[in-house]
Amino acid sequence: MNPTPERLDPGLYIVATPIGNLGDLSPRAASILARADAIAVEDSRVTAKLLNHIGTKRRMIPYHDHSADHVRTDLVARLATESIALVSDAGTPLISDPGYKLVRAARAAGHAIVTIPGPCAAIAALTLAGLPTDRFLFAGFLPVKEKAKADTILELGAVRATLVLYESGPRLHATLTALHTHLGDRDAAVTREISKAYEEAVTGTLSVLIDRYAEGGPRGEIVIVVAPPGEAPPPEPDAVDALLRDALTRLPMAKAAAEVAKATGLDKRDLYARALAMRDE
Ligand code: SAM
Repeated sequence: MNPTPERLDPGLYIVATPIGNLGDLSPRAASILARADAIAVEDSRVTAKLLNHIGTKRRMIPYHDHSADHVRTDLVARLATESIALVSDAGTPLISDPGYKLVRAARAAGHAIVTIPGPCAAIAALTLAGLPTDRFLFAGFLPVKEKAKADTILELGAVRATLVLYESGPRLHATLTALHTHLGDRDAAVTREISKAYEEAVTGTLSVLIDRYAEGGPRGEIVIVVAPPGEAPPPEPDAVDALLRDALTRLPMAKAAAEVAKATGLDKRDLYARALAMRDE
């Protein structure tokens, strides 16, 4: 006979759940989910399947960071006497998923907060890509609009770190193309369907990956990983001019040259001279 499961202490339990393979739910995560007084969820249909897998039913409370303030206030008030688990549809809550505002409010109110670590697509992709992992910059989804996307890529590309981005199949080709235009032909990886039957990691320079996905976006969930600057040949002169032109719309000449130098690994003085020449052309 099973002993009565120990009741959880009141507080917020941040529980990572599988990103594809249900076998990746940790025993500790399953135990917390089975014992929590309630579970704050993104989509109750998705979490119901997970609970069904571990043979339990719990009260579910829909939660998003953009939920009305009273939803969060109510959840935080409950934490004084109840154990509430926070999950997202897949992976680690708060990572391109809801939760940060709830954790902040729970912390401000002095409640216990416990994390139950587990799957995260960004980290799993890094382990597959074969690119430097000592410094990485996770940036979630890039903006969809072209100008905002370009600005963000330039900003991120200047950082000496491997970039980790979430993306969807239909947008993959456009995003790889934008990364190539603004960062040059860096090494990269497209990881897909991690922990599922059709898991794959395709590696190569951005131009190779652009060709590979020219026929249209692949199905499934995707993480793009891009090597840090300075490890790839610099962009073609035309692309450098395009970068400079874009930077000059936002910055004075010296700053524009410095930004493009950081993103491409090219010499700042050469870029400044090129910017001067472009102005005089
Ligand atoms: N919180 C989640 C985590 O810890 O990874 C991420 C949630 S975010 C809304 C969903 C995105 O994560 C997907 O669009 C995809 O880019 C990435 N992702 C999630 N599961 C994945 C998988 N199995 N393989 C590849 N990428 C995945």
